[in-house]
Amino acid sequence: MSVKVKNVSKYYGQQAALNNVSFEVNAGEVVGLLGPNGAGKSTMMKIITCFIPPSKGDVEVCGYDIYEQSLNVRQKVGYLPENNPLYYDMYIKEYLYFIAQIHNIGKKNINNKIKEIIDITGLNSEINKKIGFLSKGYKQRVGLAQSMIHNPDVLILDEPTVGLDPNQITDIRSLIRKIGKEKTVILSTHIMQEVEAVCDRAIIIDKGHIVADDTTENLSQLTDANFIIKIEFENEVDISFFKMIKGILKINNEKNKIYTLVCDKKHDIRAEIFKMSVQKGYTILSLQKEEQSLEKVFQNLTSKN
Ligand code: ADP
Ligand code: MG
Repeated sequence: MSVKVKNVSKYYGQQAALNNVSFEVNAGEVVGLLGPNGAGKSTMMKIITCFIPPSKGDVEVCGYDIYEQSLNVRQKVGYLPENNPLYYDMYIKEYLYFIAQIHNIGKKNINNKIKEIIDITGLNSEINKKIGFLSKGYKQRVGLAQSMIHNPDVLILDEPTVGLDPNQITDIRSLIRKIGKEKTVILSTHIMQEVEAVCDRAIIIDKGHIVADDTTENLSQLTDANFIIKIEFENEVDISFFKMIKGILKINNEKNKIYTLVCDKKHDIRAEIFKMSVQKGYTILSLQKEEQSLEKVFQNLTSKN
């Protein structure tokens, strides 16, 4: 097990940014921590990387305890913080040299190490520039390079593609996929497609709670298996009438007279709803079928107050 988070809560004053969060990440997995802004993603990452302590709960990284063995944890993790803080006045090599020294990489290895990481992150073409003069995509590569220079087993990447243009996003995603073949990666994002493109698994977090934790494949299948029917009736209806129809998984009554039905894809129940409504004397004002995308599942899981 690479990362083990157990019953972690974090309070900022009265506010619970994380509320009894537990999950585990196996060695070699690439996991997306997915959630809207303010969900608690960065807070979770700061705790795993020993930047801040939790208010409650335990975290282990590669078997090391964040309270008792934080130095070992920090040797095992590489961290790309939110907004990628860098020293803009430094040249790329100069900066990586500085970071390598902080990690106590010996004089003998340091130049080889820097060269290796520059190759991996594709920084060669821009190597003579100051960091401040790099495009955002290349700054992000420098951020990734610093996070990996000490060859950590676990990489924690906080919104690694935010603010990049579509080409840069594709580049950074494929770089992360490449890195993910050899390391455990936890990346945060509020973009569903990013998780689909890069991760094996998604942990969906909302308001400090985990609301889903599954492989991206299973999450997509879940959505493929279902579709949503929205019905508006003219008058109040007796909800038990829906329960007689086969294939309905869930009934939400969002507003008066408006119902959302989550249905099994095997049963197209629209005709049946019409027939039964006529029998019961209910008038349907509208009935729509919505295909449920992964994006929708994310919205459904994270938008309810
Ligand atoms: P995310 O990264 O998912 O956007 P954060 O972990 O940054 O979420 O924040 C979770 C919640 O905690 C937010 O409501 C945020 O305002 C609050 N928060 C984060 N850091 C602090 C802090 N240092 N002091 C007070 N509140 C904070
Ligand atoms: Mg954040």
